[in-house]
Amino acid sequence: SYVITSLCAGVRDGACLQVCPCDCIHDAGEQFVIDPDECIDCGACAAACPAGAIFHELDLPEAHRDAAGLNRAFFR
Ligand code: SF4
Repeated sequence: SYVITSLCAGVRDGACLQVCPCDCIHDAGEQFVIDPDECIDCGACAAACPAGAIFHELDLPEAHRDAAGLNRAFFR
């Protein structure tokens, strides 16, 4: 699935919410997060994010590898 990194924090633009076709992006307070069981990997959110905060989980920058677990943890 796609994953929102901490680059979202302090920006919280919300463009991702507008483009996600399955409403699987949720507000986690500091930042938005993606429900990995609902995401259909369309990539629309990543293209729309002005902060460049969203990546496919297999494509996460080294410094943000923990983001996949943190997004998932919000829904467990
Ligand atoms: Fe939603 Fe698509 Fe982003 Fe998944 S990749 S969170 S389905 S916009």
